[in-house]
Amino acid sequence: MIVKENFSLKKFNTFKVEVNARFYAELESAEQILELTSQKEFQKLPVLILGEGSNILFTKNYNGIVVRLISKGIKVVDENAEFVFVNAQAGESWDDLVTYCVDKEYYGIENLSLIPGTVGAAPIQNIGAYGVELKDAFVSLEGYDLDKQRKVCFSNNQCAFGYRNSIFKNALKNKFLIANVTLKLKKEKSFNLNYRAFQEFVQKKKSTEITIKEVSDLVKRIRMSKLPDPSKLGNAGSFFKNPEVDNKKFSELKKYFSDLVFFKVDEHSYKIPAGWLIEKCGFKGKKSGNVGTYNKQALVIVNLGSADGIEIVNFAEQIIQAVHTKFGIKLTPEVNII
Ligand SMILES: Cc1cc2nc3c(=O)[nH]c(=O)nc-3n(C[C@H](O)[C@H](O)[C@H](O)COP(=O)(O)OP(=O)(O)OC[C@H]3O[C@@H](n4cnc5c(N)ncnc54)[C@H](O)[C@@H]3O)c2cc1C
Repeated sequence: MIVKENFSLKKFNTFKVEVNARFYAELESAEQILELTSQKEFQKLPVLILGEGSNILFTKNYNGIVVRLISKGIKVVDENAEFVFVNAQAGESWDDLVTYCVDKEYYGIENLSLIPGTVGAAPIQNIGAYGVELKDAFVSLEGYDLDKQRKVCFSNNQCAFGYRNSIFKNALKNKFLIANVTLKLKKEKSFNLNYRAFQEFVQKKKSTEITIKEVSDLVKRIRMSKLPDPSKLGNAGSFFKNPEVDNKKFSELKKYFSDLVFFKVDEHSYKIPAGWLIEKCGFKGKKSGNVGTYNKQALVIVNLGSADGIEIVNFAEQIIQAVHTKFGIKLTPEVNII
């Protein structure tokens, strides 16, 4: 294991922000984290586990050790008549895991095609798209508790998954390294095609004729038409979470905004798309210096050139203020701000 000093992270965050890590190490296997963090030199320093940096915004140099896990491997670990259990190492690309499952016709995560990032980061915010979340297929994970310096296994329940949330964003924030993840996929054809963007496709096809590859390709096409490619335009996908409001607030909003877009969550709450709120405040495609929102999706903040993290955070603050003033709703970032 080689530890580098004063290492540039520009290549390792999709916002393309120029910051340095005081120390940087790549681990070929997860257990090396114990060796690294027990070295006297590093014992007292904070540790940041980095995947592909597609959900992180650095606002300053990192005064600690940045660790990237580059372990690879995807394998079937168990199966029965109905299900197959697939285990993937944290350093695998998430989309490579989806492609593996699509090729083998293991059903369950095809709606999560083309989400950037690593397998190890997927449980952190319980990644989700088009009506499916990681938790729907998740069985367990193995990892290392950095405080207790020992290996631990977490079941689905223990991860306390929520909307873009888990125990790893709360009690175990920056205290845990995810080493590998096990998913449970269906062998029988089964799709979640309720999402509005799928309707045209569904209407044209008989449900028995639809293939997993077609669904995955459809998701990829929709994503590519809506979201900026981080290799061309620095961004971290949705910058904010979609806020949830209670019935009282929902009725108020409906009264003042007849074109309100919303999704019913349950009897007590509704989700309002943050992109719609931001667009209504006139921020779609708006630019300010080196920062702006994407012209096709106001929820995505983009680095138009050489913006630093502070500039991006200040722009995000302007959006939060504007949405709060107009709608009385406080947006919260989905991106991890460091
Ligand atoms: C264009 C674009 C589109 C996106 N679309 C979606 C989407 O549809 N749905 C969605 O949910 N997300 C989406 N995202 C966000 C992002 O892809 C996911 O959050 C992804 O899981 C981040 O993976 P990463 O490897 O880049 O993690 P990073 O950004 O490197 O890290 C994210 C967090 O996870 C922690 N972490 C990373 N790896 C580990 C590990 N092995 N152990 C412990 N902690 C770890 C980090 O410390 C950090 O807190 C999008 C991003 C972009 C740029």
